[in-house]
Amino acid sequence: MLNFAFTDEQELFRKSVRKFAQTELAPGYLERAKSDEFPWKIVEMMKRQGLFAINLDPKYGGQGADHVTTGIAIEEIARADFNAVFCIGVGGPLEKFGTEEQRQEWLTRMGRGECFIGIALTEPDCGSDAAAIRTTAVRDGDDYIINGEKSSISGVTWMHAYYLYAKTDPKAGARGVSCFILPKDMPGVTASRFRDLGCRPIGRGTLALEDVRLPVKNLIGKEGMGFKMVMGEFDFIRVFIALQCLGAAQASLEEAITYAKERHAFGRPIARFEGVSFPIAEHYTLLEAAKLLCYKALWLRDQNLPHTKEAAMVKWWAPRLSVDIIHNCLLIHGHSGYSDEFPLEQRLRDVIGFQIADGTAQIQKIVVAREIIGRDYLPY
Ligand SMILES: Cc1cc2nc3c(=O)[nH]c(=O)nc-3n(C[C@H](O)[C@H](O)[C@H](O)COP(=O)(O)OP(=O)(O)OC[C@H]3O[C@@H](n4cnc5c(N)ncnc54)[C@H](O)[C@@H]3O)c2cc1C
Repeated sequence: MLNFAFTDEQELFRKSVRKFAQTELAPGYLERAKSDEFPWKIVEMMKRQGLFAINLDPKYGGQGADHVTTGIAIEEIARADFNAVFCIGVGGPLEKFGTEEQRQEWLTRMGRGECFIGIALTEPDCGSDAAAIRTTAVRDGDDYIINGEKSSISGVTWMHAYYLYAKTDPKAGARGVSCFILPKDMPGVTASRFRDLGCRPIGRGTLALEDVRLPVKNLIGKEGMGFKMVMGEFDFIRVFIALQCLGAAQASLEEAITYAKERHAFGRPIARFEGVSFPIAEHYTLLEAAKLLCYKALWLRDQNLPHTKEAAMVKWWAPRLSVDIIHNCLLIHGHSGYSDEFPLEQRLRDVIGFQIADGTAQIQKIVVAREIIGRDYLPY
C-alpha cells in the first residue's frame, strides 16, 4: 500500500503548531533575528506548547514524538521563525549510546530545558574531512586530558555542554575518534563568538580546549565509536535542517503570492505576468517534491529502514532550493524586498548558513554517489 497522507493526529498537530507559530513566533522573528541574544523566552513558550524536547524519550521528560511528527514541528516553526527551531532542544548520541547513568544525569536535565548540548566536531583546519580532526583526548588515570580547538560551533556561548569529538588514537583515522560529553564550565574551556551573516541569536564560535581534565565517565559509548555516532546523528539531523530551510522558503513563497496579487504594473496585478507566476509555479512544484523526500526519509527512519541516501539528498537539495526560492521571492517584491523591514533578506541570510552546516552539498553528493554507485568509486 502506498499512502501519502499524514495521520489525523499529525494533521491536527500541524494545525496547532502552525497556529502557535504564526501567532506567537512570526511577529517577533525579525526583531529577534537582529539580536545576538538567544531567545530563552521562546524555550519557555515551547515548553508550554508541549513542543520542547519533542523527540526525546518521555522517560527523560521529552514528548516521545516520532521523526515525522518532529519534522512537522520543525517545518512549521521555521516557517514563522527560522531560529526558533533551536529552542526545541534535541537529544543527540547520549540517547542511543549513553549509559543509563549518563542519560539520567544529562537527558533529564535536557528534558527540563536546563541543559542544551551543542555539537563540537569541526576544527579550524578541517570540517568536511571530519576524520582528520586533531583535538586529542589522552587517558590519564580516571580522566582524559583534552587539548585542541573546535571551530564553528553553534550556540557556543549559551549551550551548557557539547558533544565533543576528539582523537583517542590519532593514528587510527575515523576509528580513532571518540565522543565525550563536555560541560562548558570546565577549567580550560574558553568559548568565543563569531559575527555571522545570519542566525545571530544562535551564534557560532570557537572552543579553545587547554588541558581540560574530563572524567572517564564522560566518554559516550566506547573509544573509537565517535565517528560512527556523529554520522548516525547526521542521518536525521540533515533532514530536520532540510525541513527548516523549506519552512522558510514556504513562508517566502506565500508572501510573494500575496504581493504579486496586490502589486500592479502596466495596469494589472504582476501575478498575471508569466515572468512572475511561472517561477512561483516552478518553485511550488520543487518545494512540494523536496518536502515529500524529507518526510519519506523521516518515515524510513521511523520504520528503522536505511535512510542515509535520502538524508544526504535532501541536505544538498533543500537548502539550495530554499535559497533560490527566497531569492526569487525577494526579487518579486522589487525594491521593497531589498529592505530589512521585510523578512526576506533575513531568511536568505539565515538559510545560507545551512548550505554549509552539517556537511556541504559536495559532501552530500559524495554520500549519495557512494550509496548508488558503490564504495569502490569513492574519490579517496
Ligand atoms: C551556520 C553553521 C553552523 C554550524 N554549526 C556547527 C556545529 O554546531 N558544530 C560543528 O562541529 N560544526 C558546525 N558547523 C561547521 C560545518 O559543519 C562545516 O563548516 C562544514 O562541515 C564544512 O567544513 P569547512 O567549513 O571546514 O569546509 P571545508 O571542509 O574546508 O570545505 C571547503 C569547501 O571545499 C569543498 N570540499 C571539501 N572537500 C571536498 C570534496 N571531497 N569534494 C568536493 N568539494 C569538497 C566544500 O564543499 C567547501 O565548499 C557549522 C557551520 C555553519 C555555516
